[in-house]
Amino acid sequence: MDLQDFDRTHLWHPYASLPPTYDNLIITHADGVRLYTHDNHTLIDGMSSWWASIHGYNHPRLNHAISKQLDNMSHVMFGGLTHLPALALGERLLGITPKNLTKIFYADSGSVAVEIALKMALQYQLARGFAHKNTFASTHSGYHGDTWHAMSVCDPINSMHTLYGNKLPTQYFLPAPPMGFDTPLDDDTRLSMDRFFGQYHNKLAGFIIEPIVQGAGGMRFYSPQYLHHLHALCQYYDVLLICDEIATGFGRTGQMFGVNHAGICPDIMTLGKALTGGYMSFGAVMTTNRLADSIHNSPYPALMHGPTFMGNPLACSVACASIDLVLENDIPYLAKLMQSKLSHHLHQLQNWQEVADVRFLGAIGVIEMKQPIDMPRFQGLLTKYGIWVRPFGKLVYLMPPIVMSDDDLAKLCGGLVQLLKAYFKDR
Ligand code: PMP
Repeated sequence: MDLQDFDRTHLWHPYASLPPTYDNLIITHADGVRLYTHDNHTLIDGMSSWWASIHGYNHPRLNHAISKQLDNMSHVMFGGLTHLPALALGERLLGITPKNLTKIFYADSGSVAVEIALKMALQYQLARGFAHKNTFASTHSGYHGDTWHAMSVCDPINSMHTLYGNKLPTQYFLPAPPMGFDTPLDDDTRLSMDRFFGQYHNKLAGFIIEPIVQGAGGMRFYSPQYLHHLHALCQYYDVLLICDEIATGFGRTGQMFGVNHAGICPDIMTLGKALTGGYMSFGAVMTTNRLADSIHNSPYPALMHGPTFMGNPLACSVACASIDLVLENDIPYLAKLMQSKLSHHLHQLQNWQEVADVRFLGAIGVIEMKQPIDMPRFQGLLTKYGIWVRPFGKLVYLMPPIVMSDDDLAKLCGGLVQLLKAYFKDR
């Protein structure tokens, strides 16, 4: 059986049927901002492997960090043992996150980090004798992962709620935050948030939200004022604010973390994706002394989670090297600069009749179409134009490695415009 046949016959891909409706491209290696296919095509990467590879692929510093750690140990259990990579990563995380976040739980992926954050919030409320505060709230158009409770706080309409129906835990949802980073918080929205908290706060352990950018739920940007008000309501009603920075963390939006746009410190923050520079699956949940102390001083002082690969030394080592690069290269600043470059190359698409909206924030460029993209047709054009872009629904979006040169960014954006012209042939 040839490679493509084997893939088509045996391997499930994300959110895909098996066999798939179109062939996956076979990648043999990746280097810098380029992916190389087995049939000798070179693709400029517009995806950073779903927000993760902020420094590009095959980075000498990240490679070195992993191989050096490999000589010492690839893994030891974290129960009863600790190690230098976990300690070094902890120090680095405390150095870059909001200062009240002082306690760290290492997780094995983003979705698992979200599960742990929800457990932490429940244990905190239990510890304080508020067993009735045992559900969660979020907004429409959010996305927090694919595990069971993470799914339950994703957008209840556009997500997997429809499929898994009433087997998912029931949570509470506000309407999605109004679109636009620069859109001031209006009175109606403020009032609906106030009413929501007034009505449900007694049931809520926590409110989970992606700060400033809602990613997989619609690539929507919203105002820091919204986040600011949400934070105030959470504090007032003692509902824990859980900021899911798994996609937004480490500079993507032009600030180190999404919460920095609003100058707030959440009660719990989840990290993943770019935490390891996109090298391997890993996550972290950070929280405050107040929360950790409450759990510690309760009849159930242990936080009940402990994955086999918790604190994996390879992941911690590469995460340390990645954070060093984030700081040395000022990745948040590079992302801020990329915003105007993406806009310069792609703003023209606003005038196309097929396009509903174009928007940019930091190193994220979104082209929202009026109709969903026909994926087999789009995928079939990628190698011809030498770019790697993966739309979903009506959204064609770019979030390139943040270190991408101006020249490569021009090629990537130019390639996308040409591809879209070919896709909408009659232009
Ligand atoms: N939260 C957010 C905001 C995400 O974007 C994602 C991944 N797309 C997750 C959670 C889940 O992370 P993982 O895929 O590593 O489980």
